[in-house]
Amino acid sequence: MNFLITGAAGFLGSSLANQLAREGHQVRGLDDLSTGNPQALAPDIHFTRGDVNDRPKLWTLLQDVDVVYHLAARVSVPESILYPRDYNDINVGGTVALMEAMRDVGVKRVVLASSGAIYGELIEQPLKETVIANPRSPYAVSKLAAEYYVRTIGSLWNIETVSLRIFNAYGPGQHLPPSNPPVAPHYLRQALRGGTLVAHGDGLQTRDYIYVDDVVSAMVAASTAPNINGLVINIGSGVETSIKDLIRLVLDITGSKANVVYNSQSSGGVSRMKADISLAQEKLRFTPSIKLEDGLRLTLKRDARFK
Ligand code: NAD
Repeated sequence: MNFLITGAAGFLGSSLANQLAREGHQVRGLDDLSTGNPQALAPDIHFTRGDVNDRPKLWTLLQDVDVVYHLAARVSVPESILYPRDYNDINVGGTVALMEAMRDVGVKRVVLASSGAIYGELIEQPLKETVIANPRSPYAVSKLAAEYYVRTIGSLWNIETVSLRIFNAYGPGQHLPPSNPPVAPHYLRQALRGGTLVAHGDGLQTRDYIYVDDVVSAMVAASTAPNINGLVINIGSGVETSIKDLIRLVLDITGSKANVVYNSQSSGGVSRMKADISLAQEKLRFTPSIKLEDGLRLTLKRDARFK
């Protein structure tokens, strides 16, 4: 099959692109390289640098494409609070631009990378796709809006759509920005350097961590699975882990004696996140196969930054 991946040079995009190429598919990648790294892509992936809002570029790249994976986005919650307009322009506007270009060219299916962040603070756990979302940041709102856009205009224009609400993905190659880096690789790096591991809040807040290879399996399945048009589907491990337990695992695995500080002055974000993954199991035959402890070990082993 022919695929276009937007955000292809990013953490999830590059892992997906390389997997599809290994399976023998033709893969094109688009990324503006605002954070992405094209070196992460295998040589047989046809990479183009560009913006997801650039429709003429999209028209060219979409020729003969069977399925689009739409991952290009700004992904930082704190940054989205400072610059909501950028998040709206790229995450929402970019999605609409892509859908218009798909309609113009006649591409028939899109898989959107949405986020578990759309749920926000909800008491009832595990989180089911059917609950009313309670987004708490412009990032989360932008992802929810993108879901509605793909589903609504997809059904009007006969484009099949599926939105995958990915929870806390982690693994080798994850982008580590200087402020607010994703916790799993950040703690690994701090532990190896003997630096302090700082947790926001009391460390009792939970997240649903999912190893990158499991996310990629779900994304691959979503390109061909039948009867998923218009659905939103959670992609998580179905297991909730507190920040405290994550830190304990990181220290065990690395053998580090690094200091741990709980900063009660700063908010730890939502209290609980645990995905209900029964829909993914039913529709995508999705079964997460890598436990957090093993995924952290694999991250250490496979990411050159941790050598
Ligand atoms: P990432 O930042 O590594 O990847 C995003 C990519 O998009 C980057 O390579 C960036 O350069 C590119 N990009 C940004 N703006 C662009 C633009 N205007 N035009 C073209 N490319 C642009 O992040 P990731 O973790 O790989 O996330 C990929 C997708 O999955 C995102 O849509 C994100 O919202 C979603 N997601 C990720 C997670 C996670 O835990 N990693 C969880 C939920 C959802």
